[in-house]
Amino acid sequence: MQELSGRRALVTGGTSGIGRAAAEALAREGARVLISGRNEARGAEVVAAIETSGGEAEFVRTDLESPDDVRALAEGAAEVDILVNNAGVFPVGATHELSEATFDETFAVNVKAPFLLAAAIAPKMVARGGGAIINVTTMAAEFGMPGLSAYGASKAAVALLTKAWAAEYGPKGVRVNAVSPGPTTTPGTDAMGDDSRPSSRLFRLAAPPTPKRSPRRSSSSPPAGRAT
Ligand code: NAP
Repeated sequence: MQELSGRRALVTGGTSGIGRAAAEALAREGARVLISGRNEARGAEVVAAIETSGGEAEFVRTDLESPDDVRALAEGAAEVDILVNNAGVFPVGATHELSEATFDETFAVNVKAPFLLAAAIAPKMVARGGGAIINVTTMAAEFGMPGLSAYGASKAAVALLTKAWAAEYGPKGVRVNAVSPGPTTTPGTDAMGDDSRPSSRLFRLAAPPTPKRSPRRSSSSPPAGRAT
């Protein structure tokens, strides 16, 4: 028996990476999945993959930067039992190098769109007796990382919204959680290249400092590359 038979889910950013994996997992469990994104070709590909595996899916073209698009999406998804606020943009750059437009896009997609979706959909979940909202956040929301100020701040806002919605809608039957994936290779992080992707920065932070010069070996030292 599939655990989510008869349930409906909306996964924003279901056209790529983590959102696509979430949409496919929900469909495998029997949910009918609505995926949103801007890229119609990738949307059609995900729908086809889900249907080929025996699941049910539909793609809705939505630009989450546009509040009108978000409202239309919320209207079309009014009956969903599961809302996954996954779509996100993650600009990398020093604060003084990020444009105002980039900041606005980051907050529109990462914060305002989930806010408008939850505001429209959570009360309907309450009216139907329950539901679940899952917000995708990141460890960059927890501590300051160079190059990720706007992204980290937007996801910190999402982390707080998660707690606020849990307080507001939790007692009325809506389960609200945040999921914070570790560095994950996706089309989005691939497009950033190795030098700028947050994961490689993290690995760099976590690694011990590289010595500037190899220490000199005495004649009694074992040859390099051999365990002692
Ligand atoms: P991704 O491969 O770049 O996918 C991003 C998704 O967001 C795409 O489906 C894209 O859809 C959608 N999207 C972006 N801007 C949009 C807009 N204006 N309107 C509508 N949809 C938009 O990214 P990912 O790595 O899977 O990341 C997914 C989520 O996980 C993000 O919230 C990210 O912050 C979070 N996260 C990722 C990592 C990681 O290491 N990958 C770690 C922690 C958290 P279209 O291209 O079709 O518009």
